Amino acid sequence: MLRLSCLILVCFVAQAMASEIYLPKRIFIDKEIGTCFYVPYNLYIPSYQGKECYAVANIIKGRIDLKSAMRIRYFSRVDSDKTINDILKQELRGATANITAFDYKVVRGKLGHTPEPDIQALQAQGTNVRAIICQQGKRIAGVMINGRVREDIADEIIQSFEMMEKLEKRWSNFRERQSDAGQCFHVDAQQTATKKTKRPKNWSDALQVESEHFHITFMCEPKLVAGYLDTLEGLHVVLNDWFPMQKPQHFKYEIHITKTTKDFGKIAAKILQNKSYENLANDGAAFGGFFSTMAAATFTYTDKIKYAQMTPELQLAHEVVHQYMFVNSHNNYTLPMWFNEAIAVLFESGKYSRSKQEILPPSVRFKALKTYYKKEPPVRVVREYVEQDKAFTNVHEYVESYAILHFLLQEEGGHDLLLAYWQQLQQGKNGKTAFHEVFLKPRLQGVDDRDAYYEQWQSDLMKFIKGKKAEKKIKK
Ligand SMILES: [Zn+2]
Repeated sequence: MLRLSCLILVCFVAQAMASEIYLPKRIFIDKEIGTCFYVPYNLYIPSYQGKECYAVANIIKGRIDLKSAMRIRYFSRVDSDKTINDILKQELRGATANITAFDYKVVRGKLGHTPEPDIQALQAQGTNVRAIICQQGKRIAGVMINGRVREDIADEIIQSFEMMEKLEKRWSNFRERQSDAGQCFHVDAQQTATKKTKRPKNWSDALQVESEHFHITFMCEPKLVAGYLDTLEGLHVVLNDWFPMQKPQHFKYEIHITKTTKDFGKIAAKILQNKSYENLANDGAAFGGFFSTMAAATFTYTDKIKYAQMTPELQLAHEVVHQYMFVNSHNNYTLPMWFNEAIAVLFESGKYSRSKQEILPPSVRFKALKTYYKKEPPVRVVREYVEQDKAFTNVHEYVESYAILHFLLQEEGGHDLLLAYWQQLQQGKNGKTAFHEVFLKPRLQGVDDRDAYYEQWQSDLMKFIKGKKAEKKIKK
């Protein structure tokens, strides 16, 4: 029933957002120097005809094959003593062009970006040639557009050319790591680059789509994905409200969605380096998706048959919460395991879109837990959760964790504590230590009999779970 209602919702949203499928932009990044620009998709993507595949441009030795009479060349210097004027002239290779100053800060700012400071830029305009070159210290990069230049497209490329904050490995995402030999996988689980090749090979047979904060590579129904993007952008609004980002997002979150359990299993086996996942399809998938910190990407699939509790939307939202927490706490992934899951469960069941966001309690999980409690004691008691950090072995641990978080947030000042906790993570504090200091220390101060204290807490928690309060909506 839940699955059905979700599918109806997605179809409805998909219609409203369908244009996004046709007008995405893709960022190419030079990893060493940290630059990107947005290539207008309409240059090389054939009109979408319901196929699940199209060819995307290759990046080979800095040349981007756009399958048109217009050629684009990317160039960069990591450590240059020459002036940008000299380099630009050299890159023009004899072509006549007018070289003028380019107000990088103002142009990028108008596009809604926060440009890195101290960037000087020049542009060149001539017959059949356009170029931009940027410099920050000894870091120099640019693009040259030759051939039958279409001015509107050239403008878009020049204006979107971006000198990013210098990329560090910890910031690189799945797509950026295509240039890390042997690190990345095609959606069909083939490696995108061999060990010896530095440059990536192409993504050839998956669809890609981007929204403001997400990039999805997918093999499922495009309509579904358009709906997912709207949901995820809405979720992003909520997350940024609860856990404010310290700086603008420099790359889009990578998400990979396969249709079948089998394809998902293949990827999971590669990414998680565990061959047994290849048999997920046979086993019946009790495993709906994951966020990999190594790949800095979320993976899931849409054919969720045997594990009806998790719909693809729910699974995606759940993993993206992990992804958001990971990225925005500066990859400080030291949160206690149960607490990390509790936060993901807190947001997974909501109804989100760009225009409206509603956090809803995980009713399906609660219902299952209540049934479970009719015969069994709690999987773990509150003391075991808050004082130990153990991996989950039982599905009910998710909702027990959530209940503890909900319980903490209900108390006066609960939300302030969560924000204080977030700030500590941002300062690089260990997530387990921070949890103790922010949430536990004030509670346990002056408590002589800890056993009795926790017993009381456990009994309050059980009343809370079995009563109606736990299923109430959480408000910030
Ligand atoms: Zn999780």
